[in-house]
Amino acid sequence: MDCILPGATLGMLGGGQLGRMSILAGRHLGYRFHVYEPSADTAAGMVADAVSTAAYENAPALQAFGKGVAVSTLEFENIPYDSACVLSAHTPVRPGPEVLRICQNRRREKEFLRENGFPCADFRVVRDYVDLKEAVAALGTPCVLKTADFGYDGKGQMKIDTPDIDYAAVWRGLGYSHAVVEAWVDFQAECSVIVARNGQGAHAVYPVAENIHRNHILHQSIVPARLPEKVQQDARELAVAVAEAIDCVGLLAVELFVKNDGTVLVNELAPRPHNSGHWSLDGAATSQFEQHIRAVCGLPLGDTAALSPSVMVNLLGDVWQDGAAPDWSALLADPGVHLHLYDKGEPRPGRKMGHFTVLRPTIDEAVTVADRLFGEISATK
Ligand code: AMP
Repeated sequence: MDCILPGATLGMLGGGQLGRMSILAGRHLGYRFHVYEPSADTAAGMVADAVSTAAYENAPALQAFGKGVAVSTLEFENIPYDSACVLSAHTPVRPGPEVLRICQNRRREKEFLRENGFPCADFRVVRDYVDLKEAVAALGTPCVLKTADFGYDGKGQMKIDTPDIDYAAVWRGLGYSHAVVEAWVDFQAECSVIVARNGQGAHAVYPVAENIHRNHILHQSIVPARLPEKVQQDARELAVAVAEAIDCVGLLAVELFVKNDGTVLVNELAPRPHNSGHWSLDGAATSQFEQHIRAVCGLPLGDTAALSPSVMVNLLGDVWQDGAAPDWSALLADPGVHLHLYDKGEPRPGRKMGHFTVLRPTIDEAVTVADRLFGEISATK
C-alpha cells in the first residue's frame, strides 16, 4: 500500500463530529478534505474544503467524489455496503467494504467473533417470534434482544427479564426482519480499546478506557482504566487480535465487558474513531483522530501513550436549557480541563454536542473534578 502524503485530498464519508475531529487533525498534517454526507450543514462539512450533499445510493455523485480523492475513509459505519463497493471502484476505501459489512450488522459481527474464536456473550439469531421464544428459553433470562441492523447507543435493544412475555407482540414491536438475542453478561466494568492499523503491517494500540454509560449512552471514559494490569493486557491483546482478523485498515474500536472473574468479552466493534477515544485529543501523545488519518494514509503510526490520567465527559443536548448553552466558565478557567464543542446546532436530548476532558496527576482526582464540573453544568440548567 502506497503512502498518501500531506497535500492530498482525502474523502470522508459521513458528516458528524467524528469526521469533524478527524478532519481538524488531518489539517494539521496538511491534508485537504472532501466530505460526502446526505444532510446539509454538518459538523464535518463546516471544516472541510469541499462537501458533496448527496444520498449514499447516488452512484454518479459517489463516482465524482471518488475520482477527486486519494483515499476515502469514514466516520460512520452504517454507510451502505453497496455504496462502499461502488466507491471502491474509484478510490481506495479504508476501512474496506468487507469490514463495514461485518460491523454494521450485529448478526454478522457476532458470527465473525464466534467463527474466529473470540469470546463474546452467547447468542442466537432470530427471524420470528417462535425463534425468539426458543432463544429466550435456551439463553435464560435476563437476556437482551437486539436488532441486527443500525444498532448503537442502546437503540433497537430490549432487555427481557422474564420468559412470560407476549412474544408475538414483542417481535412486532421490534419491527425488524431479524435480530440477535444475547445472554445477559454480569459485568464488573465496561471498557474499550482502540487499535490502529496502517495497511503496511504496523499496528498501534491505545490504553484501555473504562467506560461509564448512562441510559445506554457513554457518559465518561476513564484512562487509565481502574482495572488490574492483567485484565488490561488481555483486553489490549484481544482487541489487536480482532483488528488483525477482520483486517481493518484505519481504526477499530473494540468495546468489551469485563466479567466479575476478570475475563473479557467482546461486546461491539466500530471501524472508526470512537467516543471512548476522545480523551486522546488532550491526554495522549497522538490523538485517535490524527492516528485515523495516519493509518488510512499509510503513514507511520503515532505514539499512543497517555501523557496524563484523563477523564472524558460527554455533553449531550440534555445539559442545554431551552437551547441555551450552560455556563462554561468553570471549565474554561481550569487549566487542566479541555472543552470541545461540535457546533451541531439544535441541542436535542441525547444528542452528542461536545465533551470535556479533565487532566490531573491522579485518576481519582480527575474523576472527582469531572463529576463536580458535570454536576455544576447540569445544575445551571
Ligand atoms: P450496545 O449498543 O450493544 O453496546 O449496548 C449498549 C449497552 O447495553 C452496553 O454498553 C451495556 O451496558 C448494555 N448491554 C448490552 N448488551 C448486554 C448484555 N448482553 N449483557 C448486559 N448488558 C448489556
